[in-house]
Amino acid sequence: MDAYQAIELEQTYGAHNYQPMDVVLCRGEGVWVWDVAGNKYLDCLSAYSAVNQGHCHPRIMQAMIEQSRTLTLTSRAFRNDQLGLFYRDLCRLTNSHKVLPMNSGAEAVETAIKAVRKWGYVEKGVPEDEAEIIVCGNNFHGRTITIVGFSTNENSRKGFGPFTPGFKIIPFGDVAALEQVLTPNTVGFLVEPIQGEAGVIIPPDGYLKAVRNICQENKIVLILDEIQTGLGRTGKLLAEAHEEIEADLTLIGKALSGGFYPVSAVLSNQAVLGVLQPGDHGSTFGGNPLACAVSRMALKVLVEEGMIENAADMGAYFLDGLKQVKSQKIKEVRGKGLMIGVELDTKAGGARSYCEELMTRGLLCKETHDHIIRFAPPLVIDRETIDWALEQIEAVLK
Ligand SMILES: *Cc1c(COP(=O)(O)O)cnc(C)c1O
Repeated sequence: MDAYQAIELEQTYGAHNYQPMDVVLCRGEGVWVWDVAGNKYLDCLSAYSAVNQGHCHPRIMQAMIEQSRTLTLTSRAFRNDQLGLFYRDLCRLTNSHKVLPMNSGAEAVETAIKAVRKWGYVEKGVPEDEAEIIVCGNNFHGRTITIVGFSTNENSRKGFGPFTPGFKIIPFGDVAALEQVLTPNTVGFLVEPIQGEAGVIIPPDGYLKAVRNICQENKIVLILDEIQTGLGRTGKLLAEAHEEIEADLTLIGKALSGGFYPVSAVLSNQAVLGVLQPGDHGSTFGGNPLACAVSRMALKVLVEEGMIENAADMGAYFLDGLKQVKSQKIKEVRGKGLMIGVELDTKAGGARSYCEELMTRGLLCKETHDHIIRFAPPLVIDRETIDWALEQIEAVLK
């Protein structure tokens, strides 16, 4: 099938809820992907950080093939022999007490909201139906009704109301705003350590530490959405480690399966997930043996193959290289590990056209908002490939 036919089919039969770049991919390996015409590209998006381990990682592929020959789905009506191993590995690796497995990121967010609300009623004594959860402006936590209900992005919300009540929005990175908004009914604060979709927005130094203390002092559950920042992306296993804190609930997804399969999880201390009783929550596919086997291997290769350290080293190298690109079009370059944003000057005329031009040069990336280009290649990228990417970026932004 050629690109034209593939695009035509998508346009004809699919809902148009995305505006993809017109590159039709059919193969991937490590940091590289190929289109149907055989052109090769460096993937600098990594499926929004779901393929941190690189495309089609052979060890994860092997785990997937082997488990899919054995047992794939039982539902949680019965136990399966993979789930406990997955829990154990994940808890040991992330220093957590309990895990609740789901599928997509948005489901992990919804799960956390349910658990925190119930914790508020059972453990904190908040009157029924009055729990409040604080979130930040410009957040991205997914696409369900509840989640878009507390988005500040008009495009995400418009036409989808009425929304779930019980959320308050404060500016990101603003400690004083958090202190001011708290009430006795506040049960949780949900925040991204670095806002990815908002354009790689890094909060001031010490923000997470301060937030951690405020939550502690006021008996509020700190929920970190590490669905994008987690699993090595920022050069640490979890981004919370940059400020040496531990959230009460941590949400992970995306790279949890290395891009093979939708797997997400809520990680928690005993208290919060401990309030859930049989029947309170569930998912047909959550915790299935195929997901568990794939996920365990995805975590194993991340650690054993040094991908987290590589993200720190290569991220610093890439960021430094981008900072040296001399261009009037660049307003700011920022990032942590391999989560990098290049903010263009308003006079540069929007990021999309530069992404299109980079595509013709064999580098795939995506604008976020109108004027920011995000660079987030798989964590297995090497120096030579970054040098090549920098040449392309420099040429396009000159
Ligand atoms: C991608 C993402 C989500 C949603 O994950 P889905 O799997 O698309 O539902 C939530 N939070 C953050 C920070 C994300 O990047």
